[in-house]
Amino acid sequence: MSGNNVRLQAIKDVQAYVPPAPTYEANEAPGEIFGENVFSLAVMQKRLPKLVYKSILATIEHSKPLDPMVADSVASAMKDWAMEKGATHYSHVFYPLTGFTAEKHDSFFEPAGGGLSLAEFAGKTLAQGESDGSSFPSGGLRNTFEARGYTGWDPTSPAYVLDNPNGKTLCIPTVFVSMFGDALDHKTPLLRSQQSMAKHAERVLRLFGHENPDHVVSFCGAEQEYFLIDRHFFLARADLLNSGRTLFGAKPPKGQEFDDHYFGAIPERVLAFMMETERELFKLGIPAKTRHQEVAPGQFEIAPMFERANQAADHQQLLMTTFKRIANKHGMECLFHEKPFEGVNGSGKHVNFSLGNSTEGNLLLPGDTPHQNAQFLVFCAAVIRAVHKYGGLLRASVASASNDHRLGANEAPPAIISIFLGDQLSDVFDQIAKGGATSSKEKGTLMIGVDTLPVLPTDPGDRNRTSPFAFTGNRFEFRAPGSLQSVAGPMVTINTIMAEALDYIATDLEAAVAAGTEFNDAVQAILGEIITNHGAAVFGGNGYSDDWQIEAAQRGLPNLRTTVDALPELISDEAMELFQNYGVFSHREMHSRYEIGLEQYAQSIAVEAKSMLEIGTTSVLPAAVRYQTELALNIGALKAAGVEADAAPLGEVTGPIGELRAGLAVLKDALAAHAEDAYAEAKHANEVLLPAMAVVRTAADALEGIVADDLWPLPTYQEMLFIL
Ligand code: ADP
Ligand code: MG
Repeated sequence: MSGNNVRLQAIKDVQAYVPPAPTYEANEAPGEIFGENVFSLAVMQKRLPKLVYKSILATIEHSKPLDPMVADSVASAMKDWAMEKGATHYSHVFYPLTGFTAEKHDSFFEPAGGGLSLAEFAGKTLAQGESDGSSFPSGGLRNTFEARGYTGWDPTSPAYVLDNPNGKTLCIPTVFVSMFGDALDHKTPLLRSQQSMAKHAERVLRLFGHENPDHVVSFCGAEQEYFLIDRHFFLARADLLNSGRTLFGAKPPKGQEFDDHYFGAIPERVLAFMMETERELFKLGIPAKTRHQEVAPGQFEIAPMFERANQAADHQQLLMTTFKRIANKHGMECLFHEKPFEGVNGSGKHVNFSLGNSTEGNLLLPGDTPHQNAQFLVFCAAVIRAVHKYGGLLRASVASASNDHRLGANEAPPAIISIFLGDQLSDVFDQIAKGGATSSKEKGTLMIGVDTLPVLPTDPGDRNRTSPFAFTGNRFEFRAPGSLQSVAGPMVTINTIMAEALDYIATDLEAAVAAGTEFNDAVQAILGEIITNHGAAVFGGNGYSDDWQIEAAQRGLPNLRTTVDALPELISDEAMELFQNYGVFSHREMHSRYEIGLEQYAQSIAVEAKSMLEIGTTSVLPAAVRYQTELALNIGALKAAGVEADAAPLGEVTGPIGELRAGLAVLKDALAAHAEDAYAEAKHANEVLLPAMAVVRTAADALEGIVADDLWPLPTYQEMLFIL
């Protein structure tokens, strides 16, 4: 009767798993393979004429405009290097708003007549490509009849050779824009926002006496959480395949309540996967570090070392693709969804952010002298202003259907964006707010730049894990981003709001100094003003508590619970002006991002709803009905034999079957309804589809606990999470 139970087959297949042959070479040293497949500065220095190298270095290190004359020379060296490594193709890699990475491959070889072919790769081919990008989301920026999109080389993110079993490809990170120059990707605004933030940070540095400050960049270190499950289970779950999360599944009897998984022993198979991915990432010049088991069973984390934000963003995307590929090789599926399993801890991608340059180092690192500390406090104050003024935008930058399952769920920061400074730094700002004349917690008085400042904290031991935006000793950690999303979006917002805050501070200080105010007094005044006006965002308590929801409302902090609540922040007058003023997004581009955000939200929920309808109708319901039939036949047979039959089990399964049927009917109707615009469609998904899905799930999960195990068609939570 159930000859084809995919779940039982999957369990058999898992048991028969044979690990792949190891690829590790015993004499291999991590230091030697690092960056092996990267067209790095070192490679360029070796292969480029001196002047060309100097010119490209100025572009990469100091953000000088790219000299078009160097492109031919770089292209030729890049091609030779890649072909020596065995590459036959090249690809402009770009980051469309789908969140995935897109590639357009071309062969180096062009037919040259007489059956010959020539390897061609000119500067203009390196610098610009054309792509029919009509299938990528543009939010109305492009009509399909003018669907051309252009890719443009980003020299600040190094090219690399990607190894595939069937060949090697030279990959060139690029921006992706429309024929009118509108940004269609994640990289373009990230580069624009870095430039803008740098400009104003450098103004502040000049005020602090650094006459010719080196170019300031923003750094990003992303901590990636993910789940690994056996691929046979993955393939047996149409919901995971279609939507990345399980739409059905009762909580396992053994859950994470035991907490024995956090930093627990890593299963051998997972370790093999980790070692291979780390090696692959090393070859690609991605400095991957630390591995430990996360809170939930089957959940892990990797944190590459921080890099410049645009490079970190590219590397992050490459890391995710590499993980997927190598997990498959080891018979597993890597799940990046924020909430693949209901009731089990979700996955985030903490974005660690700092800014600095080669001469000053990290500008968020407290210094040894009062002068350095005053400068540090000014940059911290900029963060406080930015987070307070634009908390709604930060929330919008992490908004997605999948991340909504996580934010505010007592495992991830709440949807309210506040900032955590730690005891000592909070104390310093408290005193500044009071006029700076009183004594500090430790010693002395607190007149900026004049008297001694207390030694400021560099100890990251002072932690608050419930805060969405926390100072951790030398950086801020934005904890709200979801595991699936690109770090580019949050970084664009952070850079832009920092540009505004630094611009505000620099303008104020420049005017004060011009008016003859003592510089230290001017710094003291602006710090006081900022903490007075924006201190409402500073919060050191428990972000998960109900009291905080009430207090935050009293403080006037927005609490944008869902993506539908958050996305309109993007098109507020204030946000549109902000992004336009700092040259990051035009109003048109902001509208397009808003539209795409809504469309993606509505679409991903619709996909889930359809998948649920199908699985519910064709798998779950039939299994339950079979069991119901078995029970009914059994009762009939017992009665015929004159044995007293207990009808209760039949009633127990019949109830949820009725509820499931009714729930599926409601879901079907809800899916048939359509709204007239993107916002209404997103609202429909949020207010109608999600609740309808919850009803179906409750009935189906109840059945999972009733229906005979050999009839149940979907791999259970227990099986997926504990068998690796
Ligand atoms: P934790 O889990 O304690 O937050 P991890 O070691 O897992 O710390 O991750 C810390 C991340 O922060 C790493 O990616 C690291 O490179 C990054 N990081 C460290 N210092 C800085 C900095 N100054 N700027 C940006 N990121 C940083
Ligand atoms: Mg961490």
